[in-house]
Amino acid sequence: MKKALKIVLWSLLGLVVLLFAAGSLFFYKVKNGFPVSYETDRPSINFPADKPALLLFSKTTGFRHGESIDASKPVFRQLAQRNGWFVYETEAGGVFNADQLKQFKAVVFDNSTGRVLNDEQQQALSQYVEAGGALVGIHGSGDDSHHWTWYQTNLIGTTFSHHPLNPQLQQAEVQVDASVDSTLTSQLPASWKHTDEWYVFLTQPKNVRVVSHIDGSKIIPNGNMLFIKDKNFGMGKYHPVAWYRTVGQGKTFYTSMGHSAAIWQDAHFVRLLENALRWTLNG
Ligand SMILES: [Zn+2]
Repeated sequence: MKKALKIVLWSLLGLVVLLFAAGSLFFYKVKNGFPVSYETDRPSINFPADKPALLLFSKTTGFRHGESIDASKPVFRQLAQRNGWFVYETEAGGVFNADQLKQFKAVVFDNSTGRVLNDEQQQALSQYVEAGGALVGIHGSGDDSHHWTWYQTNLIGTTFSHHPLNPQLQQAEVQVDASVDSTLTSQLPASWKHTDEWYVFLTQPKNVRVVSHIDGSKIIPNGNMLFIKDKNFGMGKYHPVAWYRTVGQGKTFYTSMGHSAAIWQDAHFVRLLENALRWTLNG
């Protein structure tokens, strides 16, 4: 009897250690991405002469929003068809070289997380944007797993803190700022109800124009830390969820919306992204 009890206790202890190890690994991956090899082979791409080209990049080494990424691809193909764009989809970083990047009108980090590019590729992307290119980021591309100062400064403009967990997905009213570039607000209502995993950042995004925001006092921002309740840090009531800026001759646009597969069926969310892409293609 005593022996059986010992076995049970040791098994329980083993289970706790395993769970703790698994949790730690998951947490590390979400924060830093697992080490990866970087792809350096240049892909062969046939760019159509008459269509603006978009690079849809969904490589992840941190948390992977697999369902959202999968659901986004048919939507980008539809948008491309409707607008006469060429979309090149990849999860390999080899395309991030100066020669090939300059053939794209915009690069979309579609829930890309972690360190996905090597130093040279990062430099190629930053130089491409500053020389007149565009970078659009969706949801996970704004978390804190990227560890890349230029990217964080020029795309995000603030630092990711956490997302709510209780509940993780919450409905909020997305308010559109009518005073921003009208290409970005075209055919959007003044506000709409949207359910998402609302990212909380440490401060308001800096040096950006906010396209849309929610009322941060109407969500429950409790997040990843067990002992801190209602943490909302610097965002407060005015809680931006989409913003843009110019960077050198180029442009960036980021939206923190985009967690679930379902949002790709939301006409207003898709319209916001379509507007953002049209805005990057202007001029
Ligand atoms: Zn998410």
